Amino acid sequence: MQDKVIPIRAAGAARAAAPAYDGGPLADLRGRGLRDLRISVTDRCNFRCVYCMPREVFDNEHKFLPHSAILSFEEIARLARVFVGMGVKKIRLTGGEPLVRRDLHLLIEQLARLDVDLTLTTNGSLLAKQARRLKDAGLKRVTVSLDSLDDAVFKAMNDADFPVARVLEGIDAAAAAGLGPIKVNMVVKRGANDQEVLPMARRFRGSGHIARFIEFMDVGSTNGWRMDDVVPSAEVVRRIGEQFPLEPVDASYAGEVAERWRYRDGAGEIGVISSVTQAFCRDCNRIRLSTEGALYTCLFAQGGHDLKQMLRAGADDDALRNEIAAVWRARDDRYSEIRTSETANLPKVEMSYIGG
Ligand code: SAM
Repeated sequence: MQDKVIPIRAAGAARAAAPAYDGGPLADLRGRGLRDLRISVTDRCNFRCVYCMPREVFDNEHKFLPHSAILSFEEIARLARVFVGMGVKKIRLTGGEPLVRRDLHLLIEQLARLDVDLTLTTNGSLLAKQARRLKDAGLKRVTVSLDSLDDAVFKAMNDADFPVARVLEGIDAAAAAGLGPIKVNMVVKRGANDQEVLPMARRFRGSGHIARFIEFMDVGSTNGWRMDDVVPSAEVVRRIGEQFPLEPVDASYAGEVAERWRYRDGAGEIGVISSVTQAFCRDCNRIRLSTEGALYTCLFAQGGHDLKQMLRAGADDDALRNEIAAVWRARDDRYSEIRTSETANLPKVEMSYIGG
């Protein structure tokens, strides 16, 4: 569990010295608005990706959160409603692996009633079985993580002996269910899977899906990150562009995480996510709700703010709004802009807990 090393500030701590929320748009200390909410619905995952939940750390001895500690669907839906009322336009469900949370479609049914773009990030392992049910419940789109098309490389990355074909079946099922356009996320780690960049681009060219290449990040403090392992997005774009000429595309909205490129021959587009080499903190409008109901204003946060305690103590919506507003207004994070090899070793919240 994270709270052994990562402090979670007590409920109400943020708003004690702050003005009440007045209903207007929120801005943090750097003038950034609040637009996206990522909700981690479980800290568990059936993969042990070496860059995210390395098996040496997340082994049989690892203590995942007990059921009583994690937010119920009703608690999540209530907080989501409060956030949407404060200007959140997009909610992404993540984890851990969100599809291992039992009956997730029941949460989606509740969230789908909100006026919000509702998406989910998954490793795809359980997607073939669940895609139709998720769509029927009101999910709009999915993003699927897939680090290689080669079984040996993929298994070395996911460390769970999981074959590529099953993820591809999941992508097909999601497309058939209408959960597209599907984004396929590949974390690129030099010497591990970077030879798979071109095959991945080739596989999804012309498919209607969007391959996206993510720079390997120093999330958490267990993945042994080194700058040498990062393949800069510029290199990814160059490698793909040499084979299939590319041109840049404007962002769909301010603060979009991926930089977009399209194939000049009209075969679709790719995205690159360059949080290491071209930090995008300046426009970051994301907030994260952990599995146990703590708020984090940065993926690389060193502390969170407890909302679960407030919920369970009977706080009304005004109190929740005031707390969230106070947390956002005090936000000053810009970790990716100040990253060095030293900061990489700081005790940061694990991505599997906070939600990727
Ligand atoms: N289990 C789901 C999945 O696999 O998509 C959702 C959670 S996962 C933490 C979300 C995303 O974060 C995945 O695309 C994963 O590859 C990415 N990710 C995890 N660790 C990362 C790292 N160290 N650097 C870059 N991306 C990372």
